[in-house]
Amino acid sequence: MRPTGNLHLGNLHGALQNWVDLQNDGSYECFYFVADWHALTSDYSDTSMMREYGRDMIIDWLSVGLDPAKSTLFVQSRVKEHAELFTLLSMITPVSWLERNPTYKEMKTELADKDLSTFGFLGYPVLQAADIIIYKAYGVPVGVDQLPHVELTREIARRFNYLYKEIFPIPEPLLAEVPKLLGIDGRKMSKSYNNSIYLGDRGKELQKKIASMFTDPQRMKKNDPGRPEICNVFTFHQIYTSAQDVAAIADDCRKAAMGCVECKKRLAAAIMEGMKPIHDRQDYFRTHLDEVDDIIADGNARAATIARMTIEEVREAIKI
Ligand code: SF4
Repeated sequence: MRPTGNLHLGNLHGALQNWVDLQNDGSYECFYFVADWHALTSDYSDTSMMREYGRDMIIDWLSVGLDPAKSTLFVQSRVKEHAELFTLLSMITPVSWLERNPTYKEMKTELADKDLSTFGFLGYPVLQAADIIIYKAYGVPVGVDQLPHVELTREIARRFNYLYKEIFPIPEPLLAEVPKLLGIDGRKMSKSYNNSIYLGDRGKELQKKIASMFTDPQRMKKNDPGRPEICNVFTFHQIYTSAQDVAAIADDCRKAAMGCVECKKRLAAAIMEGMKPIHDRQDYFRTHLDEVDDIIADGNARAATIARMTIEEVREAIKI
């Protein structure tokens, strides 16, 4: 995950919850890292907050339940072997594979204010491939939008195995069903749209954001019947409110027996209660930064040990 600032509820329910579930499933040995080199591929011109964002992000991971005793949590740039494997893989990756990457063109258009005509940006899927296969990963937890990247990783791993030696397993995407949570303005929840509810939002700040959320646009007046199935507030209720109350809210909305203001107040209270254990852990880790730094250092060392073993095999296979 790129260190781009505070994490929001879209990140929590779209990715992190799945990471925690995989960790606690017991069948996986999980590696999660702060992708600071990846952040540089698009945000190279302002790196002033990079370290702080990375640590904040790991605090959020720990707060939502990632456990350093079960998962390896580390920082990409602290495991230099990723860069070595990236260099070696870049020798065998045809440029045409990178140019046809759909996100490459999309991001260049979306982030038109940044100059992304760089070698690093074109090559970031090769770095991703190195990040994954250096741990001989069998699975990669991704969203649907990342599937082309996993496919590219698979192609690169196959090409390496074919050219040199069967070293790398061909990783599979681990897709999870995730709720579609939108930002408070009804667009995709994203830091750049300034529409996010952050993991740390609480009290008045949270209430204010929830109060400004878009609802069913057809419900202009309180006595207009609503359509909970298309309302973003209701999607959040389905996560944070008990099943019994969710059914009652849907019913009251359809019959116009409850107004949106009341519905949102109930949602703010439910999120506050649901997030309380996460907020408590955030408070703890934010006041125990030495502990966080030790966790990161330990994760870096564990990751580097494995990465080094793979790199030895790779050097041997390429005969360098
Ligand atoms: S009552 Fe609740 S679910 Fe219905 S439209 Fe308003 S905010 Fe959405």
